Amino acid sequence: MLYRMEGIVIRSTDYGEGNKIITIFTPSHGKQGIVVRGARKPKSRYASLAQLFTLGDFSFYKTGQLGTLNSGEIVESFRGLREGLDAAAYAAYMVELCDRAVQDEDAGGYLYYQLKAAMTAIAEGKDPQILARIFEMKIVRAAGYAPVLDECVNCGRTEGPFRFSPAGGGALCRNCVYRDPTAIELEEPVWKLLRVFSAMDMRRLGNIAVKESSAQQLKTAMRRWFDHHLALNLKSRHFLDQWERGGDFFKPVT
Ligand SMILES: [Zn+2]
Repeated sequence: MLYRMEGIVIRSTDYGEGNKIITIFTPSHGKQGIVVRGARKPKSRYASLAQLFTLGDFSFYKTGQLGTLNSGEIVESFRGLREGLDAAAYAAYMVELCDRAVQDEDAGGYLYYQLKAAMTAIAEGKDPQILARIFEMKIVRAAGYAPVLDECVNCGRTEGPFRFSPAGGGALCRNCVYRDPTAIELEEPVWKLLRVFSAMDMRRLGNIAVKESSAQQLKTAMRRWFDHHLALNLKSRHFLDQWERGGDFFKPVT
């Protein structure tokens, strides 16, 4: 059967002699795996279409698990995502998150448009670290593991202070914090940001300025949340960690 749909390339791997297998994330059919014959040959018209991050219009035949590309066109190459190392590293992290956290046919259109908006914003030069945090929140919502942030998970109390408890499912008030001794303290602005991120539609992103200390706490909170609920062991996250630590990972060889 011949299918035609828009999608973003969230994985691209070499396959056999000169071919690639790509996974596209689509608004209507979740993830789809497609073989792109000849994509690694220098003169292939589909070499760019099969690159990671490309947003394209794909037409493919599919009978079993994998499709075979029939034709396709680039809608948006997101070149800006490949130009800077940090843009590329965060974009790679987001597409890998999508690939690993989303089941094949589920997820619907909402998450697709969040990813598309995130890629567009990174390509436009918005802070990729903050975009990654917002997108993480979109992923946990889509996966059904969103934290409760507006009230105590245990007793429903709405006045803080709260602690953030991945094991407990979100906010724990002063009376209930005994339930999770590992719950972490977050500054009030960080709570506000988490709530904003949780409700936000990335298609309507404004300018979000976040202090460095808040950015660190957001990272810690989301990481603890992921490790507890969706332990994915992402390659791109190890890479990002090296990058953020600014080790000698990227120093030129002299
Ligand atoms: Zn409580």
